[in-house]
Amino acid sequence: QVKRLHAYKRQLLNVLHIIKLYWDIKDNPNADFTPRVFIFGAKAAPGYHFAKSVIKVINELANLINNDPAIGDKLKMVFLENYRVSLAELIIPAANVSEQISLASKEASGTSNMKFMMTGAVTLATLDGANIEIKQEVGDDNIVIFGMDKDAVYRHYESHDYYSRGIYESNPVIHRVVNSLVDGTIPNCQSEGNEIFDALITYNDEYFLLEDFQSYVDAQARIAQLYADRSRWMHMSLMNIANSDKFSSDDTIRQYAQEIWQLHLPQA
Ligand SMILES: *Cc1c(COP(=O)(O)O)cnc(C)c1O
Repeated sequence: QVKRLHAYKRQLLNVLHIIKLYWDIKDNPNADFTPRVFIFGAKAAPGYHFAKSVIKVINELANLINNDPAIGDKLKMVFLENYRVSLAELIIPAANVSEQISLASKEASGTSNMKFMMTGAVTLATLDGANIEIKQEVGDDNIVIFGMDKDAVYRHYESHDYYSRGIYESNPVIHRVVNSLVDGTIPNCQSEGNEIFDALITYNDEYFLLEDFQSYVDAQARIAQLYADRSRWMHMSLMNIANSDKFSSDDTIRQYAQEIWQLHLPQA
């Protein structure tokens, strides 16, 4: 997941899932597990305190996981500092999975989702921004979709019926994962963990992470299962590359020239 650090982009949802996997391995060291490396790159705007706290927690959770002998090579977590185009050029073609997990209705389009698709990653996404167009191009079998759509989000806004503390108190998996932010499980980030806990529970989880959590866990399990089937995964990867032409910059600029700037261009 490489992009600006912002609450609506929900890097924290990715973190909560990694904490769940950490506990899964600790509880059940002999269970089948598709090894995963989670790579983050993200810059926070200078005054964006919450974003910096998420970066701090990512780094401390990475220290915990990467150095736990009980975790070994099943799970690794990397935060690349100073994310920029020169890093994107390396990370995007190397990735197997493109994490596009913003809250539905928040992302105008996104462009890294297109870059990942074009270089053969499989998209794990909400129905937000251009993820919707990617799904149309590759077909339902070659993308993994999860979470609320924008209508479900708007229904919550209208009916004022979302209560994250209720989910936290009634779902034992979520309870344990969220508590890991504040109970010392992740060393060296007490104040950042408290700030994030408050955003999720005290201030009612503005971006519905807890509502989408189970659906995201299921989607990640589906990704692990698909990846284990090598030829199926390669098929998905090729279908993504082959159907990415819609997002070429030449076509996009041509469309702008005709529809927005109303220029009369010679036919390509
Ligand atoms: C493409 C790109 C972005 C935009 O990423 P989104 O996931 O679309 O928000 C940001 N920074 C860099 C360096 C990029 O290459």
